[in-house]
Formats: sequence, C-alpha cells, structure tokens
Amino acid sequence: MPYHKILESQIRKFLPEKCLQDESVCNFLNVVSRCYATFEKDKNISEHAFDVSEKEYQDINSNLLKQNEIRKQSILKLKEAIKSMDPNASFILENDDDLFSTISFLEQQIKKSKELANELIKAKEFAEKAMTAKSDFLSVMSHEIRTPLNAIIGTILLLQYQDPLPSQKEFLRVLEISSENLLSLINDVLDFSKLEEGKIVFADRDVELLHFLNNIKMANQSKAEEKGNNIILKYDENIPDFVRGDDVRLGQILNNLVSNAVKFTKDGTITIETLLRENNADDVLIYFSVQDTGIGIPKDKQQIIFERFIQANTNITRDFGGSGLGLAIIKRLLELQGSEINLESEYGKGSNFYFVLRFRKSKINTIREEKIQTFDKQDLKGLKVLLVEDVLFNVMVADGMLQNWGAITETAENGAIAVEKMKENNYDIVLMDIQMPVMDGYDATTEIRKFDTATPIIALTASISPDIQQKVTNVGMNGFITKPFNPNDLYIALYENTINKSTKKILAG
Ligand code: ADP
Repeated sequence: MPYHKILESQIRKFLPEKCLQDESVCNFLNVVSRCYATFEKDKNISEHAFDVSEKEYQDINSNLLKQNEIRKQSILKLKEAIKSMDPNASFILENDDDLFSTISFLEQQIKKSKELANELIKAKEFAEKAMTAKSDFLSVMSHEIRTPLNAIIGTILLLQYQDPLPSQKEFLRVLEISSENLLSLINDVLDFSKLEEGKIVFADRDVELLHFLNNIKMANQSKAEEKGNNIILKYDENIPDFVRGDDVRLGQILNNLVSNAVKFTKDGTITIETLLRENNADDVLIYFSVQDTGIGIPKDKQQIIFERFIQANTNITRDFGGSGLGLAIIKRLLELQGSEINLESEYGKGSNFYFVLRFRKSKINTIREEKIQTFDKQDLKGLKVLLVEDVLFNVMVADGMLQNWGAITETAENGAIAVEKMKENNYDIVLMDIQMPVMDGYDATTEIRKFDTATPIIALTASISPDIQQKVTNVGMNGFITKPFNPNDLYIALYENTINKSTKKILAG
C-alpha cells in the first residue's frame, strides 16, 4: 500500500533506501501513514463543518436583521395605533423606543379599562335596582292612591244622581273635576315611568277604526259641550274597515289630544281627521290630526311643551288641571312605533297636532254596518247585569250608575257565588272584579266558561299592569275596565258587548 503523500516525500528526503528493507521500519511507516490519512480525513471533515456553520451563521444573521426590521415596524405601528386611540399617550411613547415601555403602557391601559368596565357594570346594576325600586314604588303608591280616589269619585257620582241643590251641584262639579284631574295625573306619572323603562308592549289586534274614533268623540262630547265646543269627525272612507294595531295606545294618544283641544278651546270647533296616505299590499299608512280653534300656542313654546311637566299656559292649567305629561307620553308612544308628533299652531287662532301611523292590514273585511252613532243613555233599560264585587262601596258606586241607566243589577260578593248564580240565572252581561276572597275573577271566569261561553264578562280591575289585556283574554273575558271607572267607559263597555252586538248580528243576518 502506498504511503501518504507527505510521508512519501519525507521518506524520500530523510530515509536511506536500505532502511525500507527492514520489516519493522516498514510496519512503523505503515502505521504513521495511516495516522496521516486519518489526520487529513479529520481535517477535511472539520473544514467542511466550518464552511457549513459559516453559511448558517450568514443566513441566521440576515434573518435576524429582517426580523428586527419587522419588529421595529410593528412597534411603530403599535405606537401609532395607541396614539390614535389615546392622544395623551404620545409623550410616553415618543420618548421610548423599546417594546417594553409600550407593553407596560398597554398593560396599564388594559388595567384601567377593566376597572372602568367593572365600575360601569356596578353602575348599571345600581341603576337597574333603582329603576325597579322606583317602578315598584310607583305601582304600589298608585294602587294605594287609586283605591281611596275610587271612593271619592264614586261618592261624587252617587251624590250627583241624588238630585242635589243647584248650589251643591256647583261644589260637586268642582270635586268631580279635581278628583278626575288627580286620577289622570296618577295614571300619567305611572304611564310615563313605564315608558321610560321601555316596558310598553304594543298589542296587535283588529281595530274597527271608524267605530273606534267615534267612541273617542263620544267620550269627549260632554266636556266639549260644557265649553260650548263642537267635535267633528272627518273620516276618510278609503281606509279599510279593520286594521291591525293597538287600539288602547292609539286611544290614549287621540284622547289626550282631543281632551287638550277641548280644554284649550271655548265656543269653538275640534276636528278629528283621518286620511289614507298609503295603501300597500300588506299595510296602510294613516294620517291622524286633531285641530282646534282655541287659544293656540306661542312659537317659543311649541317645542318645549313636548317635554315632561312643561305647560305653555299656567292659568288654564290652574282652572282645568293637567300634569304636563300628556304630550311627553304621546311623543314617546309614537317614537316607539317609529312615528313622531307634529304641531302647527298660531297663537290666538288654534292648534293642529298631527302624526302618521302604519298599520298592518286585517284579515277581517266586513262591510261597515253602522253610521256614526251617538248613544242614548236609556239604551241600557232592562239590561240584566251580574255585578261580582267584594268591596261594598264599589258595589254601591257601580250599582248607582247601573240603576241610573235603567239596568237591573244582581250582586255576588265573590267568584264562587258568581259561578252558582250563573248556573241558576240568565244575565245579559257580567261585571267581574279581579281580586276577591274565596275565588278570584280569573278562576270564576274559567269555571263559568266551562258551561257558558256566550254571556259577555267584563273585568273590573284596579291594576293597570301591561299584561292585563292578555290575562283577561286568556281566561275568556271580553274586555276590562280600570277602576275607578269613568261612567262613560262603563257605559260604552256595557253597550258594546250587549245592545250593539245584537244590533250588529241583526244587521249582519
Ligand atoms: P297638560 O296635562 O298640562 O295638558 P300636556 O303635555 O298634554 O299637559 O300639554 C302641555 C301643554 O301644552 C299644556 O299645558 C298647554 O299649555 C299646551 N297645549 C297642549 N295642547 C294644547 C292645545 N290644543 N291648545 C293650546 N295649548 C295646548
């Protein structure tokens, strides 16, 4: 085997030829040659290894430079974003170039916003608790105030039925107006707080609009006559007979506008007008307006009267009462239905309040059976009424009114007695109190409806909770009146559910 080339040249240089004949020298030289070869191999390997790591080092280095550039750009962008969110942060961020100060600044900000969020949650919970407490307080108070007020209004009515002397009539009138004002104030305050809480849910019922507007006209007729006013109803005959909507809330809006018009007009005319603005496949847009020829509203008051507790004319209010909440309630009720109240008025000449409302079309499409109607209080003569009421005083008041209209009343002092009486006798209509001992009005109606589905049952309730309509319908009642009831409301409920119903049947048949 040839020796390693370096060894070969050294042998040639330093060893005489005869030494190469010696076997032991040859063995030695072989070992040395292998060492040379091994050394060279190791040297090549380590040189190659060095080359490789040098390349890797170059790659890593250039990667690092790139990463560093990206990092710098990211920090810059991060700082810009922070600055745009919080301009106050600029001086902290400009001074420092490193990521550490930016991160610690961000940590501080996150901590602060967490604290803020916690405080907000606490404040929200507190506000919700306060709101519930306020609404609980208002509903308890309103119930507590309405109960004695019921007695006052009822007594005034009973006294009025007993032929008082002319001088007493005058005092009774003052008492009547004041107590009615107090009642509407309580209702307004309660209503406004419900509206503020957003607790109002709009009903979706079939409403016969002409009939409904006629009732509004009738309800305000006697007050209008007292002030020498005439109420005119202008109805657009193109409006479908029935629409789907919330008649109670629409009634609240229109009644408020009409009673304001009556209040602020003397010897004039109040016009309730409707116009069909749009007639689409599924819905209609109806324009409503209440115009009067009364005192009008000065320009500078035309905006603020829609705020709560604001009145333009304190003298009139002193004489006729008012909470200054009516228009604020109307405004909110319309806003919640995607509409708004508008006003055109000239001081001294009159006012026109108007709005538009969209209604879905109803499936009912009957031909109108009646023309504008005024009722004669003798219509209820001979009507057999079962009055279910446990409070003796309420019995006295309702009984007084019913007798005045010529109706025949029988009474039951709780729901259980009413059920028995219904089994044994025939009545034209039932007036059913809700809260009673032994058996309440809901349970009694459920029992009655098992054997009598025809006789109309009207609930009498002191509560004006938002779900009352749903509850009375669920047990099979035909409607409700809130106590203390306005004689007109009671009359209309009795008339509508008895005489008018059979007239309609005859007309339809
Ligand atoms: P109030 O219970 O005092 O009537 P409203 O919110 O209904 O409260 O009305 C606020 C005020 O707007 C009234 O006090 C009155 O000054 C003015 N106002 C409302 N309607 C009329 C109207 N038809 N004519 C003249 N002024 C009116």
